[in-house]
Amino acid sequence: MSSNRDDFTGATIEILKKRAAFICSNPNCRAMTISPSEEDENKFIYIGKAAHITAASEGGPRYDSDLTSEERSSINNGIFLCSSCADMIDKNNGIDFETSLINDWKTQHEEWIRDNLNKKITAEKEVQQVINVTSNNQQGGITAGVVNVSSQPRKFTQEAQSQLLQLLNGKTGQTVTVTCTMGDGEAFSYATQIKTFLESKNFPVNGVNQAVYSQPVMGQNFNPDKLEIVIGTKQ
Ligand SMILES: [Zn+2]
Repeated sequence: MSSNRDDFTGATIEILKKRAAFICSNPNCRAMTISPSEEDENKFIYIGKAAHITAASEGGPRYDSDLTSEERSSINNGIFLCSSCADMIDKNNGIDFETSLINDWKTQHEEWIRDNLNKKITAEKEVQQVINVTSNNQQGGITAGVVNVSSQPRKFTQEAQSQLLQLLNGKTGQTVTVTCTMGDGEAFSYATQIKTFLESKNFPVNGVNQAVYSQPVMGQNFNPDKLEIVIGTKQ
């Protein structure tokens, strides 16, 4: 059966996957799309898709009649996404996801992968650890003192700076809230370094706020939903 679709070849799909490191190219998603099966050592679970930036056939999302058949099925017209993002960009025939936006995702993603080649991905977790702060009743005036007398204060290193920028990738211009635990001078000073850095990168900053938490908050925490950084006691 012949089709009017300008599909990618298997070879093109393989190259797209690998150039994206099997990670979804939507900067707000970045889901890993492949995993070894636990039950069968010869199998893997794969949820990636090579998606068309402009549609493979007439009438499809972002269809561009100016392209030749070859251009439409070329790697230049493909982006690697997880299944969910691949479905998402085509909803309502793609009205919410313009060609230029998807091309930006692809460019950004390839840069990000390039930057991370041969680096430890797990380092990001040190900052990304998400906490659920249920109560921050700001009563004030509690637990002053006893601040890291013996150990060195934290420094906002270049590595931490680049991790933070990765976490905030695509959010430029949005306000970031920076909060530290009340009465902890070391945490306040570290949080202030973060605030200064973010402002230099054109992120408006709400803070540094000081809050009293119902449970001890340790280390550096980032809540991606609220764009809030919470600096707890040094670990
Ligand atoms: Zn995705």
